[in-house]
Amino acid sequence: MCRLLKLEIRVKSDEINYNEERFFSNEQELIEDYLCALYRNGQIYFDYNLIKAEQHKYEAFVNVPDLESISEKYNNGYVNRSYKHLVVQIKEIGKNILYGPDCNCERVPYYILFSAETGTSSPIICGKCGNEIPLYKVPYLYLEEEHFTLINYQKTYASVHELYMQSLSDRFTKNQLVNPHSALNRMAFEIREELENKIKKPVYLSLSRIFLNLKRDGKKIDSDKCPKCGKDLIECDYHIGFLKMFKCDDCRLITDKLT
Ligand SMILES: [Zn+2]
Ligand SMILES: [Zn+2]
Repeated sequence: MCRLLKLEIRVKSDEINYNEERFFSNEQELIEDYLCALYRNGQIYFDYNLIKAEQHKYEAFVNVPDLESISEKYNNGYVNRSYKHLVVQIKEIGKNILYGPDCNCERVPYYILFSAETGTSSPIICGKCGNEIPLYKVPYLYLEEEHFTLINYQKTYASVHELYMQSLSDRFTKNQLVNPHSALNRMAFEIREELENKIKKPVYLSLSRIFLNLKRDGKKIDSDKCPKCGKDLIECDYHIGFLKMFKCDDCRLITDKLT
């Protein structure tokens, strides 16, 4: 469950020579580097706020997936390059009820790469309960040492979705969202495959076809079939609200059926 925390941050100002630092040239940049690195490592969410309290002292208000995530043991090299110059005290303000619950399943049968329009928290969800897996619990992809690819995928998906919604019947953006062979979805399938290699469990890509229900282009599609390979879809445990979801095991794809 998401918590809102207050981080009371003191800079060890006597110990820093900014001329020797590569990633920050003053105190504010140092704190910003710390918060940005925490976000890109999945330890805090993107919606943080920073206040200067007094000389060399700051207060950051951060949303975290859970209290564990901010623990030092999850810091990566990017977090530690600024964290070593700081003294951070953590105070819990309370549960942030604007965020949904995270997965607590003991056994996760498979994972789903899922992007929402907002792209605010994790794009990985549990195939059993449908809740998010916080990014700090997800292995890094490719040769990365932070969640660069996953965070960028979320942002890209949200941007294309927003463009589609604002431009109404734009065919290019609609194709990017619903066509499994579009550039956006080809990238998503590559990320899915890499996730599967790292997590060592099946990872499906969620590809919603709900947009096609708008019937703007009047095309008839067979919604009982996998949109990628054409085989019959199988109903899965995971659903979005009352919306049943269906999967193709060969393509590792999860989708909805149209009525
Ligand atoms: Zn779960
Ligand atoms: Zn298929």
